[in-house]
Amino acid sequence: MYDTEKQVRKPCRLCLLRDIDPAQYEAKVKRLIDLLPAGEKATAEVYESRLATCTECSYLKDAFCGACGCMVELRAAKKADKCPYGKW
Ligand code: SF4
Repeated sequence: MYDTEKQVRKPCRLCLLRDIDPAQYEAKVKRLIDLLPAGEKATAEVYESRLATCTECSYLKDAFCGACGCMVELRAAKKADKCPYGKW
């Protein structure tokens, strides 16, 4: 669970791309990953391997998974999460 003192707003998936500051968006996703408890985080190797798979996947669009709507970097960072299509 997130520490409510440190909790940050998730980027809104429904915002128009033109309204999103890419640098600010990336910083927010990184912050959410940083807030994951250590025991819930995938290892760096697993994280990078998952992202490499997503990068090659046709469902990846603007950092989101078109199959499930997740932010792939956040999903890949969670040890227990899985690709909805079993790719990792
Ligand atoms: S989570 Fe799975 S389906 Fe979604 S972009 Fe990554 S590899 Fe593709």
